[in-house]
Amino acid sequence: MPIPLTCTCGRSLRVKEEAAGRKVRCPGCGAVLTVPHLQARKSAEDEALDVLLTEPPAEAPPAAPEPRSTTSDDTTGSAD
Ligand SMILES: [Zn+2]
Repeated sequence: MPIPLTCTCGRSLRVKEEAAGRKVRCPGCGAVLTVPHLQARKSAEDEALDVLLTEPPAEAPPAAPEPRSTTSDDTTGSAD
């Protein structure tokens, strides 16, 4: 799967993915371009997505019951 690469001259190139991280020369203007690690980035993204998709919807922990003793104590008088 070729990696799409755009030269500063505007020319679109396609380089072999095995060239990622290497330098290629633009056939149009002769500029040397560094091929980005497109595949690595993509797989990392995919991985993140995969994690998001496979991770169970975090069981909501039972809401910590508020200490009622305090509350009931409050109602007996001080509030307001
Ligand atoms: Zn170029």
